[in-house]
Amino acid sequence: MLKMSDLTVSADDKIILNNLNLDINDGEIHVLMGQNGTGKSTLSKVLMAHPDYKILKGNIIYNDNVLNNLDTTSISRLGFFLLSQNPVEIEGITNSEMLRNVLSEINNEKVDIFKFNKKLTEVCNIIDMPKEYVHRDINFNMSGGEKKKNELLHLFMLEPKFVILDEIDSGLDIDALKVVGTSLKKYYDLYKPSILIITHHADILKYFDDFKVHVLNNGSIVKSGNKDLIKIIEKIGFKANAINGNDINE
Ligand code: ADP
Ligand code: MG
Repeated sequence: MLKMSDLTVSADDKIILNNLNLDINDGEIHVLMGQNGTGKSTLSKVLMAHPDYKILKGNIIYNDNVLNNLDTTSISRLGFFLLSQNPVEIEGITNSEMLRNVLSEINNEKVDIFKFNKKLTEVCNIIDMPKEYVHRDINFNMSGGEKKKNELLHLFMLEPKFVILDEIDSGLDIDALKVVGTSLKKYYDLYKPSILIITHHADILKYFDDFKVHVLNNGSIVKSGNKDLIKIIEKIGFKANAINGNDINE
């Protein structure tokens, strides 16, 4: 279980997350929504110990581990995976080289190339990505949509237990959205990870049966609910009083 309590975070001396509380049980899907600039990406990066952010108060606890002072490598080793809003391009290192190295690190043994290649082929089929892409430099010169799929390749190969998806659906055409949605559902059904989905759109959510929804405003969660909350948000928007912590007839 991931437990964030009273989490208060700054960057450049500006408070971005403010007394944020959020619990995510193993195997649960949570959706985080909110206007631009409310701190959604910040939350995703703080979970991965991005050095721009300083935790001023509160705790991030995952099972028996306090994450506050862990570095990104240690957090990844615990099974965390961030699919970033803007995936980085790494020129000079191919997907395949990176994945083989990381897998041999994780498992403490040399990767069986036959099994590795077999799985790469299976995953490329699932995510509808040409097999040649596994030999391309990580995200380098890929389109926005291709980068998202390329990150899904990493997800399937590394099998993380806690998945954070920061706007995986932005910039995807309808066909790509369908592939990404069905791939994620497949990943969820296979591995039952916890997933935190940050999104502005309900479209990606129709691939999931059950999830909890939270609205972030000014760095705090102001409203939580079940999937019905999505319909209310679509109808009245984030600015409405009802979303900002006041009474609401759900
Ligand atoms: P969202 O993802 O909800 O659109 P962000 O988390 O990206 O919002 O940003 C929240 C606020 O924090 C914005 O005002 C943004 O400019 C600011 N911010 C985010 N990261 C940094 C940073 N590294 N340094 C300074 N300000 C930042
Ligand atoms: Mg963002």
